[in-house]
Amino acid sequence: MRVKIYLNRDICNKCKLCVDYCPTSTFVLESEEIKVREERCIYCKSCEVLCPKKAIRIALLDEGLTIEVHRVL
Ligand code: SF4
Ligand code: SF4
Repeated sequence: MRVKIYLNRDICNKCKLCVDYCPTSTFVLESEEIKVREERCIYCKSCEVLCPKKAIRIALLDEGLTIEVHRVL
């Protein structure tokens, strides 16, 4: 699973909620900057909801996913 995390630093107020909350420590506070470790993300999307500034967007980049639709007659 490949995940892309968009963090809008123009509106992020560095409240650290995402750092404290993310279950896989994807966000890390280093030198007063929020660093993102995308490879750790499990795509739970909780941080998108949690962020009070709506500064986070998570996208799934996996290609080749297929959806099978079965019709029951
Ligand atoms: S929760 Fe949102 S506003 Fe707070 S540090 Fe994280 S990205 Fe920035
Ligand atoms: S989607 Fe979940 S695992 Fe990924 S950064 Fe947000 S809270 Fe962490």
